Amino acid sequence: MSDGSAIEWTDATWNPVRGCVKVSPGCKHCYAETFAERWRGLPNHPYGQGFDLRLVPEKLEEPLGWRRPRRIFVNSMSDLFQDGVPDEFVTRVFETMHQADWHSYQVLTKRGDRMHQIVRSLPRRLQSLQQVWLGVSVENRKHGLPRIAELRGTPAAIRFLSIEPLLEDVGEVDLSGIHWVIVGGESGPRARPMKPEWVRSIRRQCREQRVPFFFKQWGGVQKSKNGRELDGHTYDEFPVRPETSPPSPRGRSRLSVVEAAAEE
Ligand code: SF4
Repeated sequence: MSDGSAIEWTDATWNPVRGCVKVSPGCKHCYAETFAERWRGLPNHPYGQGFDLRLVPEKLEEPLGWRRPRRIFVNSMSDLFQDGVPDEFVTRVFETMHQADWHSYQVLTKRGDRMHQIVRSLPRRLQSLQQVWLGVSVENRKHGLPRIAELRGTPAAIRFLSIEPLLEDVGEVDLSGIHWVIVGGESGPRARPMKPEWVRSIRRQCREQRVPFFFKQWGGVQKSKNGRELDGHTYDEFPVRPETSPPSPRGRSRLSVVEAAAEE
């Protein structure tokens, strides 16, 4: 896990899976691939295998060692629901999120169909956990909108959309059953442009359908120069659930076990 994050809507990242396979146009300039491939071939480096898929079982229980509650982006360097990740491994990730219940977990995927299928087959005690937010990426109409329907049919306490990189006007979107919307433009040297009217349309729909709206960035070649204001405002809205909670009695006992082990 990495405490602190440059990503505006999270506090920390946790990567029990590394590497991924591109699946749709939103992946074209994947930041995780660019970062991971920089280290390919370096012995003993976490990304010595570049962006090839790798399970990291030794990272599975990492959030249990973090006492202070955080919002945690799960697999910021991968996609938990890609085909190469076995169902059993996904279940173990959910077990940790169940036990370390004082954090909030942001699980974002472009594989809404597999997320739907796996989450529905989890034991009931691992479904619709208050601390687990499930989300899908929406970059355009063709690939993004079907994922929203898949997400809506997936058991979850909080469902969210990451509309980034926004590549076109996504039109009118049904936000029923959706609790949070993030919008952002692509950044980097080959960033594809995002028009302000596309963003305003989503903001309007969030207002009409009473969904919190988070505007992450304009992006572009000079991300910091372009900033993250929309019509003179910064939009940092989050879902209504408290972001973090104190550990439950079950969570406290697991925390004690992990801390005791760390002191030995
Ligand atoms: S799904 Fe996400 S992590 Fe995987 S290649 Fe696409 S953008 Fe990168």
